[in-house]
Amino acid sequence: MLSVDASLADLLNAPARKPRLLVVDDQPVNIQVLYRVFADDCQVFMATSGAQALQTARQELPDLILLDVMMPVMDGYEVCQQLKQDAVTRDIPVLFVTAHHEAQEETRALDMGAVDFITKPINPTGVRARVRTHLTLKRQADALRHLVFIDALTRVFNRRYFDEHLPEEWGRAVRTQSPLGLLMIDVDFFKQYNDVYGHQLGDEALRVVSQALKQAVLRPGDMVCRYGGEEFVCLLPNTDLDGALQVAQRMALEVIKQAVPHKGSQVSDTLTISIGVAVRMPNSQGTEADLLALADVQLYKAKSRGRAQACAAVLD
Ligand code: GH3
Ligand code: MG
Ligand code: MG
Repeated sequence: MLSVDASLADLLNAPARKPRLLVVDDQPVNIQVLYRVFADDCQVFMATSGAQALQTARQELPDLILLDVMMPVMDGYEVCQQLKQDAVTRDIPVLFVTAHHEAQEETRALDMGAVDFITKPINPTGVRARVRTHLTLKRQADALRHLVFIDALTRVFNRRYFDEHLPEEWGRAVRTQSPLGLLMIDVDFFKQYNDVYGHQLGDEALRVVSQALKQAVLRPGDMVCRYGGEEFVCLLPNTDLDGALQVAQRMALEVIKQAVPHKGSQVSDTLTISIGVAVRMPNSQGTEADLLALADVQLYKAKSRGRAQACAAVLD
């Protein structure tokens, strides 16, 4: 996945790693020709049948697929169709490689979602140029798809990302009978912070808080999102009450460690957060909405008990 902290220019221009190319052809000798063309610049995966191509595409998530049209059992058209029907592989550009180039064939392939055509025998210079163009387009499309989910101010994930991923994580927790932790985090006396220091320093403080929150989560699957205003959420897959409370405590501590002066706060002379913790137990009957509501109630409790603290509950 692309880095959340990369700038827009970085995302659109610099290739972060070698592009991954999947070459599919039932004749190994044809694969070899393309392998030689791309081995220096790309990481090349190979498949000699449609079924193998589908499996490798799902597993390795190549940036681009060079797909032979004529193959026994499952031809290139069918492979392409299946790739386009699968959400995991849908966005991978497919270039057909074909011996006879007829208008009808081309139309059929483009209708199926292929981006381009390459004819055999292979002309290395031409193929390289076409592949380069489509790799650039793919990288830019990936970057834009990614940016839709990033909060512009803090560069953590945004509300949209959270809304789309909560059902996914919820489903996984239900299927695997595992707990799911949810933290609702709110900056204390933040209206006063803006009043005392101004909106620009307020924005800067939100950046500091979001980085501190990210510091506090340790597992790759943990997710920090800006929920709106000075409110953040954190989703913790496979995390029970004890684990979720530990993360909450680390978050509170990380924010305090930043030592952002806050004269307008009534609980501390530096910036603090309050946290509502809710955990879905493996056998709980509630819904995602119930978990969110419970975290919200706990946050409210933390506020009313004096702020700069966490309150927690489990969803039965
Ligand atoms: P509490 O301790 O109860 O949470 O009090 P609070 O003042 O933090 O809560 P309240 O919800 O009343 O105020 C939130 C403030 O957060 C209001 C708004 O000025 C500020 N805020 C929200 N979004 C932004 C932002 O993007 N930038 C800045 N600088 N301030 C923001
Ligand atoms: Mg607040
Ligand atoms: Mg608030």
